[in-house]
Amino acid sequence: MSELHKFIFDGLPVRGMIVRLTDAWTEILRRRAAGDATSGYPPPVRDLLGEMTAAAVLMQANIKFNGALVLQIFGDGPVKVAVVEVQPDLSLRATAKVVGEVAPDARLSGLVNLGNQGRCAITLDPKDKFPGQQPYQGVVPLHGDRREKLENVSEVLEHYMLQSEQLDTTLVLAANDQVAAGLLIQRLPLQGEGNLAGSMVSRENEDEIGLNEHYNRIAILARSLKRDELLTLDVDTVLRRLFWDEQVLRFTPQQGADGPRFACRCSRTRVRNMIRSLGRDEAESILAERGDIEVGCDFCGLQYRFDPVDAAQIFAEPGDQPPGTSVVQ
Ligand SMILES: [Zn+2]
Repeated sequence: MSELHKFIFDGLPVRGMIVRLTDAWTEILRRRAAGDATSGYPPPVRDLLGEMTAAAVLMQANIKFNGALVLQIFGDGPVKVAVVEVQPDLSLRATAKVVGEVAPDARLSGLVNLGNQGRCAITLDPKDKFPGQQPYQGVVPLHGDRREKLENVSEVLEHYMLQSEQLDTTLVLAANDQVAAGLLIQRLPLQGEGNLAGSMVSRENEDEIGLNEHYNRIAILARSLKRDELLTLDVDTVLRRLFWDEQVLRFTPQQGADGPRFACRCSRTRVRNMIRSLGRDEAESILAERGDIEVGCDFCGLQYRFDPVDAAQIFAEPGDQPPGTSVVQ
């Protein structure tokens, strides 16, 4: 079962989390491969998407925010885009669009950052937006300060967290065809909630970057965790091996219906709205060419079909007004 474990280090300004996605991850892969024999992800893409999925769960669980967290990587290379969406209740979905040949040993730059133009975007989309409100988005490049290409998603995200929260963060990520897993260690803000608490606190947090000896010691221990260990060992064993000399206080794990799990949010209504936004001319030209309009969900593989009668209904209906307010008589 997929699970999320949170813990703190007693008396120290450091917190941690481990996520292990098993059924939630294999479900994403199974749906992808179900399309046809050639549609499964090449292993380097699979591992990248798995690491991103684990990271997105950790990031969503690490913030107090009522809305979806969307983690995207895009650029130039055989992977056009990889995207993960995690809801506040930890339900999640993920997909990647592969447009070219993937080398069997391709790393991050070979997948999506050939010309060093690759980007990673983190979007926080509030659940109850007021009219006109835009989602919050942060974008970081897939290279370091000296424009050197980064080869691990973990480095890219550590960079993002340092920029956006002024908090040192250590991420260890790994994925294969069975498990997507991650360990996050973060220095706690001195007071308040990081950069949300105002510039003075933010400044003090910034001054502390890299200097907290407790965080530094625990981060070194965390980084000693091997990919293989993260993928194969259970959480109790990982915590015992890494932090045997530390006072780790653990919270009740989140699993099952409270834990990370696959769920797609697509629906026939959403697809109808999308077709409506294409416009009548575009819809009619697709109908003339193919006989019906077929839209597949990239996240879950579901196919939505609209024949000419269905399509005509879409455009016969009034727009997006709530029911009952649309007909003026
Ligand atoms: Zn779907």
